[in-house]
Amino acid sequence: MSSGKRIGLVAHDARKADLQDWVRLNEPRLAGHELFATGTTGGLLMKACPSLRIACLKSGPLGGDQQLGAMIAEGKLDILFFFIDPMTSQPHDVDVKALMRMSTVYNIVLAMTRSTADFVINSPLFDDPSYRPAGTDYESYVHRTVPSDAR
Ligand code: PGA
Repeated sequence: MSSGKRIGLVAHDARKADLQDWVRLNEPRLAGHELFATGTTGGLLMKACPSLRIACLKSGPLGGDQQLGAMIAEGKLDILFFFIDPMTSQPHDVDVKALMRMSTVYNIVLAMTRSTADFVINSPLFDDPSYRPAGTDYESYVHRTVPSDAR
């Protein structure tokens, strides 16, 4: 297993060509990391960059976004490059929102624009194995008092 970052790659249909182009440009930097992608995105990326090893999950609308969300909740994803289409409503909008929310809850790196992706991949932290994002303490939430007799 790679000692690099665990990276998710997702693009909505209108942004797939953009992500393919970005991944092609950054192929050498991505190569040392563990890559995961939603099904259709991953298939296209592997066509564009046959040397990259990408684990393909289910297609986003068929559960792939939720699979990535579960990886985040389990501490198994460090960075998500998520190229969304801001002009088209998605049938799986709830999954898209959930993925953005999980990224925020667990403070992983989330790049949703190509320029942010450029900044992330060119950051010195990108290849720094010692970097650990600050964790958020949810203990008080977990141990909160809830009404037990709401009948
Ligand atoms: P896809 O999913 O890569 O299978 O098209 C992307 C998405 O979540 O919209």
